Amino acid sequence: MLLAGIRVPRVTPDEALETAREAGIHRLQIPTPFAVGRVNCYLIEDDPLTLVDTGPNSGKSLDELEHQLADLGRSIADLQLVILTHQHIDHLGLVEIIADRSGADVAAIDVVVPFVENLGEDIEADDRFAASLMLRHGIPEDVVVALRSVSRSFRAWGAKANVTRPLHDGEALTFRDRSLEVQHRPGHSPSDTVFWDDDRKILICADHLIAHISSNPLISRPLDGSDERPHALMIYIESLRRTRELPAEILLPGHGEPITDHRALIDERFALHERRAEKIYALVAERPRSAYEIAQELWGNVAVTQAFLTLSEVLGHVDLLAADGRVREHADGDVIRFEAVE
Ligand SMILES: [Zn+2]
Repeated sequence: MLLAGIRVPRVTPDEALETAREAGIHRLQIPTPFAVGRVNCYLIEDDPLTLVDTGPNSGKSLDELEHQLADLGRSIADLQLVILTHQHIDHLGLVEIIADRSGADVAAIDVVVPFVENLGEDIEADDRFAASLMLRHGIPEDVVVALRSVSRSFRAWGAKANVTRPLHDGEALTFRDRSLEVQHRPGHSPSDTVFWDDDRKILICADHLIAHISSNPLISRPLDGSDERPHALMIYIESLRRTRELPAEILLPGHGEPITDHRALIDERFALHERRAEKIYALVAERPRSAYEIAQELWGNVAVTQAFLTLSEVLGHVDLLAADGRVREHADGDVIRFEAVE
């Protein structure tokens, strides 16, 4: 049925979950202490028996993971492979415990292997990188200091792990009953990886695309060790373009419900980023502003925990405008301001 102006999804999220289950993919919703709420992990009933993402490192998450596996007649000891979709601690915190108990292989995209194997030190280095970026873009020092201590308190929800099965972009991960193509899709983080089942037209997409929230292209310290600020939003948009081309019927994200019309959703995201870039252009056309001043105009005084997120949003859109030659950077003392190009 076609209704003018109303998008009718081909398949409802519940039907998509049912189809995924028939394909041997079961969603497990594991609690996290973070604002995002539960994280989706997926059990793939195949050989090897596989868990995609683990949830954060907490007793409550482990408990729920065990219960939800038991409901499916499985236990942690049965797992043979754990796949990590990206470097964020809500997705990988239990990996060490699971690998210890099960002896499962741990798979992750090659570029993130050193990061996962040195997680504590790497997050510390990320925080240093983020702090200097925040100061350069006008965020007050007390906010920067407060945010670093929040980040330290979150660190225990992560864990490092030995990656025994490094994955390469474009390779096929072969199971008894299926093959998943590994596709590196950086943007939300530098290590986002999606897994494409071309036979079933199912994409396990983690935080690369989420139905109910726009995945923030967080600025992240480059995994190659350089300290150039990456253009996270531009990288993310390019990754979304590649995903848009896939003839996917069901996308299984890292949070919330399955996506069944990814092209329409990705087009909505593109439109959102264009609108936001125009708003920012209008602000810097009035007068030069720092990224922090722009963020304050757009969102007011946000919670300390949101300061880096909103900075990433602003810089991402400023990058789009700079690439079009409409905005340029102007170092004003220690703080960078952006101005419109005449
Ligand atoms: Zn997540």
